Amino acid sequence: MTDNKVENVVIVGGGTAGWMTAASLVKSLGKTVNFTLVESSDIGTIGVGEATIATIRRFYADLGMSDSEVIKATAATCKLGIEFKNWYTEDSSFFQPFGLFGQDLGGVGFHHYWNKVRQTGDMTDIGDYSLGVTLAKHGKFTTPSPNPPSTLSIFDWALHFDASLFAKHLRAYAEGMGVKCIDAKIEDVNLCPENGFIASVCLEGGAEISGDLFIDCSGFRALLIEKTLQTGFVDWSEWLQCDRAVAVQSELNGEPAPYTCSTAHKAGWQWNIPLQHRCGNGHVYASHHISDDEAAHVLTSNIKGKLLDNPRMFKFIPGRREKAWNKNCIAVGLSSGFLEPLESTSIALVETAIERIKLLFPDKSMSQGCIDEFNDMARLEYERVRDFIILHYHATGRDDSPLWAYCRNMSIPETLAHKIKLYKERGHLVKYRWEIFQPASWVALYSGNNIVPEAYDPRVDKYELEYLKSSFATMKKALQDAVGATPTHGNFIADNCAISNNA
Ligand code: FAD
Repeated sequence: MTDNKVENVVIVGGGTAGWMTAASLVKSLGKTVNFTLVESSDIGTIGVGEATIATIRRFYADLGMSDSEVIKATAATCKLGIEFKNWYTEDSSFFQPFGLFGQDLGGVGFHHYWNKVRQTGDMTDIGDYSLGVTLAKHGKFTTPSPNPPSTLSIFDWALHFDASLFAKHLRAYAEGMGVKCIDAKIEDVNLCPENGFIASVCLEGGAEISGDLFIDCSGFRALLIEKTLQTGFVDWSEWLQCDRAVAVQSELNGEPAPYTCSTAHKAGWQWNIPLQHRCGNGHVYASHHISDDEAAHVLTSNIKGKLLDNPRMFKFIPGRREKAWNKNCIAVGLSSGFLEPLESTSIALVETAIERIKLLFPDKSMSQGCIDEFNDMARLEYERVRDFIILHYHATGRDDSPLWAYCRNMSIPETLAHKIKLYKERGHLVKYRWEIFQPASWVALYSGNNIVPEAYDPRVDKYELEYLKSSFATMKKALQDAVGATPTHGNFIADNCAISNNA
């Protein structure tokens, strides 16, 4: 029997996606496979991508890295969620936490009880029953209790980090585990004449690197998956109008907030992401509704601290690669698709792609069954994220600019329409397979955009209204007491994970 094992894996690209892939695969497969990563310092990396979701902490914990190690290495701050300002109306605000709202009771979600109490005229924000939101609103942070006394104490958190420092940290790890790195520009790609598989990549200067499996982490260039294999792209501009971003760094203005701030403007939205030593800012916009110069002006005139560099522009098409895995090439990161960074999902999609590679790691025959399974999971995952992002635009109450008027009235994917309908009718939260976002995130978005169910779960009526009201008051007080005893985010970092001054 011939040994059909994949022996040589070539990773093309040394951005966040490339080094995450290299570190995680070498940890998982060890010395059974040779890993070579090719990157070009002349081309460089995209250089943005600072907000994450909580899964990133599981990713690096799996590599044996602690929170404080990664925070120090990447000048990171802690992220409890996102504040959405001016999305529903021009002067509105709501929080989406990584955590729960209130306490479920009798197998029925808290939002049903909240809805019943609300129908009696109590308009308390659902965020007042979330520890994550209450901490964020007060600029406080601590790590969650490992043994929470009740579900009320459950919340999760993520990081705002310097992605290039994260890639550097992972690189040291991966190289230490035996990954070979070559700094050179790939100028050509050779295909096997009999099956069209990628045989090798040719570097400037003439060297040739061959492999059994190629992982395309070449960013928007999509050097292997598209330029070479012409796999195709599914364009979602019909629903996601934003196609450009302009980004700039600024000085910190006071203590870093323990959350990402996303502020809607007339033709897009602006992010503010505090790190320990600076802030990242960007304006994501629809280029057919605003010029590049105007977009840059909107960005810079809405930043409080002094600017640290010149604004940089990025162009993109929202959508995904038709097939993330084609022949012996798997696309990970920006080469596999891109959805605007409204929910910080790109790096999370890198994590799940890596998990799938490990789960379905092929032999040289590249089983079509594994390829189809991989592609189906990737498609569904992208579509779920797409729907969640579309909800932010479509649920708006704004009508003050062509972008918002379009988004309010556009037709939406059937999968999303079904979810909204069931929530509106009964408060029912539909959860599909391969959803990254938990039901509580959907509740945050619905309630923040004033989508309140017409009816609540009938099991709620088992409890007297007065009992519910007094339980709600107790919950709110317990959260305020807990927050009162918690350090500010700035103090938490100073005491636990500050970068050294000469870092
Ligand atoms: P890149 O960083 O572009 O790396 C590509 C690599 O390929 C580089 O090393 C390059 O040198 C190499 N390469 C390319 N061509 C060649 C060649 N011919 N030869 C050799 N090497 C080559 N994600 C989040 O999760 N959170 C965010 O907040 C966030 N914000 C974003 C904001 C903007 C405006 C944009 C555009 C993206 C954002 N992202 C965010 C996405 C995030 O930046 C990327 O998902 C992440 O950085 C991974 O990028 P990458 O490694 O795929 O590509």
